Amino acid sequence: MNRQFTQKMCLCFGMIFISVGLELFASNLAHDTYVFGAFLDSGIHFTIGFWCWLIASNSGLSHLVREAVICGTLSSLIDVDHFIAAKSFSLKKAVSLGKRPMFHSVLAIPLCMTLIYLLKQTLQRTKTCIFINSSSVLSNLHLLLMVGWISHQLRDSLRHGLWFFPYGSLSQSPFWLYVFAVSFCPLILNFLFKYNFIVLHNPSTDKQIYVV
Ligand SMILES: [Zn+2]
Repeated sequence: MNRQFTQKMCLCFGMIFISVGLELFASNLAHDTYVFGAFLDSGIHFTIGFWCWLIASNSGLSHLVREAVICGTLSSLIDVDHFIAAKSFSLKKAVSLGKRPMFHSVLAIPLCMTLIYLLKQTLQRTKTCIFINSSSVLSNLHLLLMVGWISHQLRDSLRHGLWFFPYGSLSQSPFWLYVFAVSFCPLILNFLFKYNFIVLHNPSTDKQIYVV
């Protein structure tokens, strides 16, 4: 067993403890205000997204933490669609929607990833953004979003199930399935990145532009 695989497995088992611990912590905490509940929820989404990127990425340490922070932040920001759907900045209205907002559809992930990827390719081809090739965050933005978004939807599936708009949704995920999925899905992505089925651009080692 090589060292990197051992590290990744340790991170996966770390995720089991973190995901279980955070849900136990949240369920035992009295949160009667919308604001506290929203901060707690966003914080958990951030932590799960952050850790998912640590498992999924093969980036060097200098890029890894910065990318993981962006991934966690993107995971938290998915809930911004509650405010868009409510057409209001009111937290009470945002969390009291009668239906699920658009970014919570699983099918929105490949759609948005493709759009961001095509935009990135256009910027690279036209040399509109000079930073895109030298920044691991910008060149991997679609992958950071994908990992953060998947982690968000896996956690939300605990309460509402995975939603495949317009085809309907699955029933609520059992807790053990959520913990297993959020701990080992990033490991599958890590293999896909590692063997270039999906290419993760790492500016510190490679300046070449790849096609996913
Ligand atoms: Zn959500």
